Amino acid sequence: MKAIVVEKYGGAAELQYQEKPIPVPRPHSALVRLYAIGVNYIDIYHRTGLYPQVLPFTPGLEAAGVVEALGEGVSLCKVGDRVAFASAIGSYAEYNVVPEEQLVPLPDSVSFEQAAALMLQGLTAHYLVTSTYAVQPGETVLIHAAAGGVGLLLTQLAKLRGARVIGTVSTEAKAALAREAGADEVIIYTTQDFVAETRRLTEREGVSVVYDSVGADTFEGSLSVLKPRGMLVSFGNASGVVPPVSPLLLSQKGSLFLTRPSLTHYIATRQELLMRARDLFTWLEQGTLRLYISQKLSLCAAKDAHQLLESRRTTGKLLLIPE
Ligand code: NDP
Repeated sequence: MKAIVVEKYGGAAELQYQEKPIPVPRPHSALVRLYAIGVNYIDIYHRTGLYPQVLPFTPGLEAAGVVEALGEGVSLCKVGDRVAFASAIGSYAEYNVVPEEQLVPLPDSVSFEQAAALMLQGLTAHYLVTSTYAVQPGETVLIHAAAGGVGLLLTQLAKLRGARVIGTVSTEAKAALAREAGADEVIIYTTQDFVAETRRLTEREGVSVVYDSVGADTFEGSLSVLKPRGMLVSFGNASGVVPPVSPLLLSQKGSLFLTRPSLTHYIATRQELLMRARDLFTWLEQGTLRLYISQKLSLCAAKDAHQLLESRRTTGKLLLIPE
């Protein structure tokens, strides 16, 4: 099969398109033939070694396809099932072996491309607004990188829960997209001071929660726009890792809460994974949730996908399609 292989950590050029043997399913795992593969920012952290992997490895955590073979003892799926997954490393390939408990069955109404666009970023948006900080109607929330993959879904889900959404983005074109997804206010944080703007937009009151996936560049400002007892959900490092912080700062800024969540811990049980996926599929079917698939590239062009993503030239979701 064709697969992308990283032999050493580094830039996008380390994503090599190679021939590899089709993997054999282990006990309680299934071999899945992949038809659409999701690109996520975490794939860049894996490639650079920020989140280390055992080398060499095939990156990618997310894809959708059809079960082709079963390892011993599999009871949760059968050959021919349409499935998707969001946390099995090795998805930049024509096939991947996935533990059965991570496979989500796809309703007929959801295409492989939709599933590969929805799983990882949708599950993330879901847990962020329902579980990490349960957004309440009428609250004001700040979402950084609101036109990104997670950002556009998070904006829609926060609106669905009745929030007023302030989004930040880097360009006018991204601002238009964030507004289309439901953002009530958009700040262009590359030219405007997002702290001053957020204070102005909230009449100096501040927001209840900040969802911050940008990391180093926005962290301090994010703490400064929260209401007393508000929560900073720092869930990514697109601009770099947040430096160490003293708990005393949280007291000085208004008895704030700070959390650094990971999707893994919010889909830790199969029940929770299926509950979140079911909600997402239902909203998609009802037309309540819209997917923004901005680009589909061939699997062999994974390098280009990474370059686009890290240079902030993407909006919404990027997919890789095996030839
Ligand atoms: P995005 O599509 O959001 O792409 C990243 C965006 O971050 C860019 O488009 C850009 O938007 C913004 N950004 C700001 N500064 C920089 C910078 N210096 N370099 C690059 N991008 C920058 O990616 P994803 O939706 O895949 O992921 C978003 C974030 O969420 C990532 O940090 C990811 O790791 C995190 N994440 C965390 C999860 C968790 O459970 N903890 C799960 C899933 C994702 P703009 O141009 O508007 O500034």
